[in-house]
Amino acid sequence: MLKGKTAVVTGSTSGIGLAIAQAMAKEGANVLINGFGDAAAIEKERKSIETTFGVKAIYSPADMSKGSEIAEMIKTAEKTFGSVDILVNNAGIQHVAPIEEFPVEKWDAIIAINLSSAFHAIRTAIPGMKQRKWGRIINTASAHALVASPFKAAYVAAKHGIAGLTKTAALELATFGITVNAICPGYVWTPLVEKQIADTAKARGITEDEVKKNVMLLAQPTKEFVTVEDVAALAVFLASDAGKSINGSMQSIDGGWTAA
Ligand code: NAD
Repeated sequence: MLKGKTAVVTGSTSGIGLAIAQAMAKEGANVLINGFGDAAAIEKERKSIETTFGVKAIYSPADMSKGSEIAEMIKTAEKTFGSVDILVNNAGIQHVAPIEEFPVEKWDAIIAINLSSAFHAIRTAIPGMKQRKWGRIINTASAHALVASPFKAAYVAAKHGIAGLTKTAALELATFGITVNAICPGYVWTPLVEKQIADTAKARGITEDEVKKNVMLLAQPTKEFVTVEDVAALAVFLASDAGKSINGSMQSIDGGWTAA
């Protein structure tokens, strides 16, 4: 389905991003993976994508809080593969605390990594996409791009910002064969979620088990975590030719959370 295309997936050494990179490679796309982690583990993952799916995979260590490194990452993919056809802005971090205790440096980091990074990647990828008259930009937003939860001020602000950037870019690029959409997952079982359980328990004064049952899955009517494979399949569909008329949309994949 994506043979001959190149996909850049930010924050793809773990969780949702890794699943998206694997799913795009499974459909035949060459991929650039990005993110932090153990160098040997990342290299193993990169090689495994190549051997499992018969595509080319490269790794960029670009820090998504640094505009210049993001631009360099896009240019590296273009130089290596000849194009960036699919851009998935997925890297993200979380911090859970009441606003008056929210560390200022955490606010700045979340806005930079979860929001501004997408602006830097999009602005660098657009000229090539426009020239080829084909492009797919997929932003991993969140149910928190549509609704809020307490103690996640920076994350909710950044994700609402991603919704605005998605819609604006979609309008600007609609006549160039480029679509821009956001995926809005509910709670997906990944390291990002696992890590926030302890902090949420502390902020709310409840046990970690209660956080899972009564905070996270309370919001999710299915009472089940979304899987990374579910999210990846949606990203592949948006990237496919069948997705060409879906533009500027917020794709909820949250077990019904935001229906309430
Ligand atoms: P994760 O922690 O498993 O993965 C995050 C990825 O981002 C990792 O590869 C990490 O190395 C990378 N990353 C973090 N900071 C970076 C930086 N400065 N530069 C480059 N890479 C960086 O998390 P995940 O749950 O897979 O989250 C992926 C995206 O999905 C995020 O944008 C997150 O907000 C969003 N999301 C997650 C959930 C969920 O429930 N897990 C729900 C909705 C939205």
